[in-house]
Amino acid sequence: MRRYEDNYKQKGLRKQLVDNIRQKGITDENVLAAINNIPRHYFLDTAFEGIAYEDRAFPIGEGQTISQPYTVAYQTQLLDVKPFEKVLEIGTGSAYQACVLGELKVNLYTIERQKKLFDLVKTFPYKSKYPTIKFFYGDGYEGLPTYAPFDKILVTAAAPAIPEKLLKQLKVGGKMVIPVGAQDIQRMLRITKTGEDEFQEEVFDDFSFVPMLTGKKG
Ligand code: SAH
Repeated sequence: MRRYEDNYKQKGLRKQLVDNIRQKGITDENVLAAINNIPRHYFLDTAFEGIAYEDRAFPIGEGQTISQPYTVAYQTQLLDVKPFEKVLEIGTGSAYQACVLGELKVNLYTIERQKKLFDLVKTFPYKSKYPTIKFFYGDGYEGLPTYAPFDKILVTAAAPAIPEKLLKQLKVGGKMVIPVGAQDIQRMLRITKTGEDEFQEEVFDDFSFVPMLTGKKG
């Protein structure tokens, strides 16, 4: 059984990481506080514990990654969540981003298409700190029609195009943050649903995510 410990050294490194991403342009103090509060090394294999607070992505198995902290902070800042909002996340992965949203007290629904990653998260003890997060195994392209509509939708994998079904599951006035692009580099978009069939699009910086794939993987 793995022993989880958050010591003074890790806390210190985490504070440096927060200063680092603040310098890179993250200004939302609630987002920075969430990053400061979460022991990122818990989400990684013990082999990466010593470098968990470098601002970079790391492998989490099954060809997937935990996103770079700057990217997590950037997407969370754009999502602009308020406590108790109903939020859908596509791509649970390590559940690090999910816990950042948990720190911000949102009512989160998160979907993962890979059964192995979903099962791993199920047995991850730290997640019990955030009882407002609900985990689902499924295809994010389908969203969660039973629980729709959502105030916010966050996609944490690269979508070749904006998934229509997700737009339908957004409340009027709601926002979706999604990296869009078929190649190695994607553009971060924020879509605001201004009417039943009306949307406004804002374009932000370029990022590099693992692809959003169709269907479930058992
Ligand atoms: N938010 C994650 C980042 C994980 S990387 C974290 O904080 O660790 C992207 C994740 O999206 C991967 O785990 C991948 O399996 C998942 N994914 C890709 N396509 C998906 C889809 N259609 N539905 C749900 N999850 C998907």
